[in-house]
Amino acid sequence: MGDNIRIAVLHFAHETVTFLNNDTTLQDFIYPGSPASGEALLSYDPKGYMGGFVKVAREHDGVELVGIESPLWPKTYTGSGWVTKEAFETFVAKMIAGIDAQKPFDGVYLCLHGAMAARGIARPEAELARRVRNAVGPKAFIAATFDPHGNEDEAFLAQADMAFTVKYFPHYDAHLQGERAARTLLRAIKGDYKPVHATLKVPIISPTVLQWTGAPPWMDLVHRALVWEAREVDVYVNVFFGFPFADVVDVGMTIEVLTNDNPKLAAEIVRDIADFAWRRREALLTSTRVLSIGEGVRHANEAVARNETPVVVADHSDRSGSATFLLKEIIAQDLSHTLIATIADSAATAKLKAQGAKAGDSFDMEVGGLVDVSAGQPVRIQGTVLNAVEGYGQFWVCVGFGRGNVLILSTYLVQIMEPFPLRALGLDIDAFKVWAIKSRVHFRRGFDDNGFAKTILLVEPSEPFLGTIHLDALPYENVDLKKFYPYGNPAFPG
Ligand SMILES: [Zn+2]
Repeated sequence: MGDNIRIAVLHFAHETVTFLNNDTTLQDFIYPGSPASGEALLSYDPKGYMGGFVKVAREHDGVELVGIESPLWPKTYTGSGWVTKEAFETFVAKMIAGIDAQKPFDGVYLCLHGAMAARGIARPEAELARRVRNAVGPKAFIAATFDPHGNEDEAFLAQADMAFTVKYFPHYDAHLQGERAARTLLRAIKGDYKPVHATLKVPIISPTVLQWTGAPPWMDLVHRALVWEAREVDVYVNVFFGFPFADVVDVGMTIEVLTNDNPKLAAEIVRDIADFAWRRREALLTSTRVLSIGEGVRHANEAVARNETPVVVADHSDRSGSATFLLKEIIAQDLSHTLIATIADSAATAKLKAQGAKAGDSFDMEVGGLVDVSAGQPVRIQGTVLNAVEGYGQFWVCVGFGRGNVLILSTYLVQIMEPFPLRALGLDIDAFKVWAIKSRVHFRRGFDDNGFAKTILLVEPSEPFLGTIHLDALPYENVDLKKFYPYGNPAFPG
């Protein structure tokens, strides 16, 4: 081993909506910058998990980080379905080859998400950890970071030693969890931390739109985990809320607790958190109100009349980014000074790009819809191009129409989380009374937690479609909803 501590760093992340028609393919992970290796991988996300991990690891002398060639997020981001077996196997094989070529390693950092669903692989993150374990041997320590939407069970920590999961939704603490992963991994390698864990699944399944941690009871659940971390030394508590739009065997809520060689304490805390969640299960599922799109737009109109603006109307359920139901209703109810951001339409943006669309051009096109039934029908928009630019791997077109309305077309699904970056598109963000966006909870950071919006409305189409809060309308094959609250009456502890 010598004086140096060598750590292999890998990245493989997706939040897979298995109900989408378009699989996440090998090619979706390949674009300028991805896959990444070496310093490019280590520096790809300075404010996120990776940045936190690298920052703390490099505060220690004699630590060598080896960035193993890894795919970054697919260019479809979260707007694509099952990861193909080809994509999973190709990248994992490359990662293992990279480890084999550069080993030995004292430790491995896996920068993950946890809600990847891959065709033919039941638990992709655990499977990756298993193969990494085979490659690095039993003595190396494996630490990972996760998103709280991860679908995990006992399988991951059966292969890996440590996991550190973001607590808040919006996910404010990714950098912090990366820092903790680095520090604890280094302590384990040096013999100062002996990771012992307990895992417990809680039979609660919840749509992500309900999981905002800025208010009780989800805030209380996070607080409970934070209290345990505060009162006990060397304890880490992971609360996976779970991601219900992946039709996988390990959906639902999962609690993990890490301790420093104290299995009794791990068992006590995991039970305490799980019991807490179970006691509050009804409140966890009913704390957020979701309106139909028609109701939501009517409420928005009324809020404008009362000057309770800006109003956010968030269609939380649009998983492709192309859904037009909200746009259609905004036109039908004749809203003014409304920003619709965005409608994803790769064909329309490609056509506009080819035409050399520019500010001042007149605009008359049918936009959005069609990619699947939950995207609805295209909507005809007649107006004027305000801006057309390339950025973040997409083509963006702003179209002014109606009475002060602006529609932003994008190539892929875009989740608007903050109002201010839209100034880069040349928009006067203070001019909008209503913001019609596609987001479940992440928008709260830029519209709600900071007091920007005076009115927040969550909507979904009445059909229901694949992003719905009515999970019993989804065509699950691998999940029996009856085993989960609120769809059945599971015994807990079971
Ligand atoms: Zn998440």
